[in-house]
Amino acid sequence: MFEVNNPDLTSWVDVPADSDFPIQNLPFGIFSTSERVLRPGVAIGDHVLDLTEVAALGLLDGLGCERLDFEATTLNAFIGRGKEATRAVRNRLGELLQAGATKLTVHANRVLVKQSDVTMHLPVQVGDYTDFYSSEDHARNVGKMFRDPENALLPNWKHMPVGYHGRASSIVVSGTPIRRPSGQTRPDDSAPPVFGPSRLLDFELEMAFVTHGGKPLGECISTAEADDFIFGLALFNDWSARDIQKWEYVPLGPFLGKSFGSSMSPWIVTLDALTPYRVSGPDQDPAILPYLEYEGQGHYDVELEVEIIPENGQGLTVCCSNFKHMYWNMRQQLAHHTVNGCNINAGDMMASGTISGPEKGSFGSMLEISWRGTQPVQMPDGSERKFILNGDTVRMTGFASKPGAPRIGFGSVDGKVLG
Ligand code: MN
Repeated sequence: MFEVNNPDLTSWVDVPADSDFPIQNLPFGIFSTSERVLRPGVAIGDHVLDLTEVAALGLLDGLGCERLDFEATTLNAFIGRGKEATRAVRNRLGELLQAGATKLTVHANRVLVKQSDVTMHLPVQVGDYTDFYSSEDHARNVGKMFRDPENALLPNWKHMPVGYHGRASSIVVSGTPIRRPSGQTRPDDSAPPVFGPSRLLDFELEMAFVTHGGKPLGECISTAEADDFIFGLALFNDWSARDIQKWEYVPLGPFLGKSFGSSMSPWIVTLDALTPYRVSGPDQDPAILPYLEYEGQGHYDVELEVEIIPENGQGLTVCCSNFKHMYWNMRQQLAHHTVNGCNINAGDMMASGTISGPEKGSFGSMLEISWRGTQPVQMPDGSERKFILNGDTVRMTGFASKPGAPRIGFGSVDGKVLG
């Protein structure tokens, strides 16, 4: 059987050496151009393969999808076909794009569009969004700052991947500006709260996975089954207004400090494309409950970076982290999410929580990088950042790479903060 993950495979479409999108990646997104209405596409090198046109040629028939899935304005219908069908489509696209294949080359002008000519859109209509809190370094840093440096983790943290239900409606695609939220804060603990624009606007470096349709309400997904329900991943910026969050979050958790916006990258990289980059996770001690145990390698080695780019200024990389730093992996998150019988739907999004590494340069939020504002970052233009200012663009990038394996990139998620 044809295997698109074969590292030796090359494409008849030109793929620059440093591209995020070699033939072994083939991430899915929704794009439009001045001539083409919103539709599914796949990134290959500097181009997008138009799946409406490929499907219209009959080349995606018989794989478990309908042609209408490839004429939709979101990927939900396609992702809802399940793991087997979406895997078959990715494999078929690899076959059609491999060097020497000719079925598409005669239609190249019809099926290929330059990425520079497209507008990318939100790839899925997110029905439900959950945010976890699964990086130990992040949880420890926050615990040290706000609670007890000696007992930074709360008692439940090493026993379950804690999370909360976030706001799906305000998830936006990369490039969408983020308006600084206003809200209620209490800057002075001895005075009444005040209302106004957040002064402590932050990013959170995260990755989010998108699910296939799950099981009916009342049933669970085990860690062994979890990969079959995960379609793919995107970069995710869980914007956070720290001052609003601090005043509102006890006892029911994040609310208006988070729900004003979250940004995702436009391309969903399939879990299959990341298979060569599976790695082992940390030893989990104390012992976890059996429903959270898993076999084999459940973590992924994806390098992540965050850059702050001031308006008309030079950018500065403020964080280099890695998805492998997670304490709880996606299998455990999904098993925990459904262990009470909670159902999931195609296009649901589950974010990792801020991904911090062990060293200072690997912290995934300004809260940690500036250590609650006590250690400002020096920007190339001489200005300082404790948190994000109006006019700043926050750019997150991510890719997996190693010798002998193709680079599997995520592109970027960009968001500019407006006042
Ligand atoms: Mn978060």
